[in-house]
Amino acid sequence: MRTIVDSVHRLTLNIFDALLGFLNWPKKRLRIRIFILRNEQPDQTPAPDTVDEMIKYAKRSFRKNFNVELLPVRRNGHFAEVLQKDPPVEALYTKGGSGALKEELRLAGSFFASNLANPIYPVTVFVVKDIKGADGCSLGPMSDYVTIDHVGLKNESVLAHEVAHACGLWHLHDKRNLLYTSRSRGDECRWWQKNVFRSSRHVTYW
Ligand SMILES: [Zn+2]
Repeated sequence: MRTIVDSVHRLTLNIFDALLGFLNWPKKRLRIRIFILRNEQPDQTPAPDTVDEMIKYAKRSFRKNFNVELLPVRRNGHFAEVLQKDPPVEALYTKGGSGALKEELRLAGSFFASNLANPIYPVTVFVVKDIKGADGCSLGPMSDYVTIDHVGLKNESVLAHEVAHACGLWHLHDKRNLLYTSRSRGDECRWWQKNVFRSSRHVTYW
């Protein structure tokens, strides 16, 4: 379903960027909201300012690579807050990779889906305790959210990388690229990645 919504956006509203996104013109916007999941031990719940460095990194990277301004969902609001709701264990400890696909249809997936900032346009980021075999996870354009775990919080490029997946970009075997799998990745991107990113439904003119 989401894949259809995504393709329709790329071929209509965002057709200009699908074809000429490499021009990086005009400036576009991308809104995100970060919900930190409460830990079972309250004192182990990360504080909202833990994500400050990753936000700075993503802002700089998206501006430089895509001419896209990263903004919080609420005007003048904060990017991050602790979600005032007890998450199910399945959401706190999730599975990466293809495990995430199965999970998407089950408890964790429905918890994330029911706590989205807004459907379709913004990307909601959930900070969970642990993702099995990964430090961040995105199902690509199929869903409106990505997850980052406590290990991922220690690497400032993880937020930009996962949100880039949500905007349709896939892994590249190039150490200098933002879409390199490992956390030793760089911050560069190729011209056609601009087309894909800028024509995502999450990236808007308003
Ligand atoms: Zn990745």
